[in-house]
Amino acid sequence: MKLIDKVAIITGAGRGIGLETAEKFLKEGAKVVFVDLGMNNEHETVKTLLAQNKDVLAYDVDVTKRDSIQEMVDDVLKKWKKIDILVNNAGITADSQLLKMTEEDFDKVINVNLKGVYNCGQIVAQIMAQQGNGVILNASSIVGIYGNFGQTNYAATKWGVIGMSKTWAKELGKKGIRVNVVAPGFILTPMTEKMPEKVLDMMKGKSPLGRLGTQEDIANAYAFLASDEASFITGAVLSVDGGVVL
Ligand code: NAP
Repeated sequence: MKLIDKVAIITGAGRGIGLETAEKFLKEGAKVVFVDLGMNNEHETVKTLLAQNKDVLAYDVDVTKRDSIQEMVDDVLKKWKKIDILVNNAGITADSQLLKMTEEDFDKVINVNLKGVYNCGQIVAQIMAQQGNGVILNASSIVGIYGNFGQTNYAATKWGVIGMSKTWAKELGKKGIRVNVVAPGFILTPMTEKMPEKVLDMMKGKSPLGRLGTQEDIANAYAFLASDEASFITGAVLSVDGGVVL
């Protein structure tokens, strides 16, 4: 097991890639803190894990609200004494072309996908710096690297996450903290299931591997980067996209 006794906070862990990553981390021996909106009443899998597993904590936290992040972090430290890994996975979309995008939709996506990563990263990095070790993994997207029709706001946040992560890697390396980015391609999750069938088929066709990614593909990448096997990797952007853009 790669992550024995590591304490990992995963945001957006109620479903999709976040939930898959949290379950993978548990299998690899980590203690996992599930962070999501509406965690107390909506997310059935998490409720079941919480009831069955002593290595699970769950918090209803909005990553745009610094006070509630701080309260969660304080409580985790009280219970488990340290934080080894933060996965900033929570993310949203509110798509439309530039000429039709509302300021409200622009701000909403920036607040969760970019400021949310800053909020959680800054608060948890303070603890990791005191510990002298830690790993921060941030969710970008190939859309952040290459752009995508209808995703001005989303692409801006995902490119921003890369710049922020490289900066953190430079600032925090001497404090024993590694910072890396995972850039998923097109992955079948509740977020992408909303897309029309023909768009999904088109995405499949773009990969030399001829398929969409699975949540497990991304969870495996996070588990590797979180583990000591990646101890000399920082500031990297790992595309997990089936070679969609080569
Ligand atoms: P998802 O299925 O929509 O899950 C996102 C999770 O984040 C949900 O549980 C959601 O909570 C939570 N969340 C949203 N806003 C939040 C907030 N303010 N505070 C706390 N939690 C919040 O998404 P996904 O497809 O698994 O994607 C996960 C990450 O990977 C995202 O950052 C996404 O941009 C990135 N990504 C995904 C793909 C893809 O193809 N799926 C590709 C590239 C990158 P609720 O359930 O309560 O809404």
